[in-house]
Amino acid sequence: MGKMDVVEPVKLSLGSKFKFKCHKGIKCFTRCCSNIEILLTPYDVIRLKNRLGLSSEEFLEKYTYMKVDEQSSHLYAMLKMNEDAERECPFVTPDGCTVYSDRPANCRYYPIGQGTLKKETKDGIAEEEFYFFVREPHCYGYHEKKQWTIESWRKDQEVDLYDGINREWKAIQLRKNLPGRSGLSEKKQLQFFLASYDVDRFRRFIFESNFLNVFDIDEETIEKIKTDEVELIKFGAKYIKYVMMLEETLKVKEEVLKEREKK
Ligand code: SF4
Ligand code: SF4
Repeated sequence: MGKMDVVEPVKLSLGSKFKFKCHKGIKCFTRCCSNIEILLTPYDVIRLKNRLGLSSEEFLEKYTYMKVDEQSSHLYAMLKMNEDAERECPFVTPDGCTVYSDRPANCRYYPIGQGTLKKETKDGIAEEEFYFFVREPHCYGYHEKKQWTIESWRKDQEVDLYDGINREWKAIQLRKNLPGRSGLSEKKQLQFFLASYDVDRFRRFIFESNFLNVFDIDEETIEKIKTDEVELIKFGAKYIKYVMMLEETLKVKEEVLKEREKK
């Protein structure tokens, strides 16, 4: 899952049909849950850390490692596999996934992969989502008879919920460095990581630092991000855009600007 070993060149759409079934009686059961790279999204971390009763810091420390994307220089949290010969996922047992109802988006998509194509249109560059089969030789699910469309698979696996919450973050994630522009500084990489994944520390950063004295954030948003982790990661995506100077998603307070002018 997440590691696209063998990728068919066929681009699929939501209506594309396929046959697949994954179940406990299948001879390859859990074989896809080892020796894989699983990139976590912000919502994955919220679901998993709450499932395990951990803070975001504890979860990230125990279950993830950081990876720098070479093209974008963004920092990502990857699920850490066990350090044994099999490199099994820490959540797999012979009976299956122990965090199944909170499994990451990448595990939900499998055996479907998702990609984005940039296309030139008369209105500029548009992004087109497409899907493809991840046909790994060890996966026997394709020999089963249950019929799906990509759309019904997405619904069954609840990926719409995950994609909806991660949408703005995913759009940032897919950005590559512009030619001739250097990547993010170390400070910005860490800010990107903090606002993406480390929700508990990000909340403390907002409410226990000078943040709310500097930025003009409306009361309704302040209340939401104080109590709702999903709202906090959505706000995190806006903060990342501001830090990366992609959009002016946050406004510095007038009085702060005036003070700065005086100096
Ligand atoms: S999280 Fe669950 S479904 Fe995903 S690789 Fe681990 S055991 Fe398998
Ligand atoms: S390899 Fe395929 S069929 Fe086997 S357990 Fe994994 S997803 Fe299911």
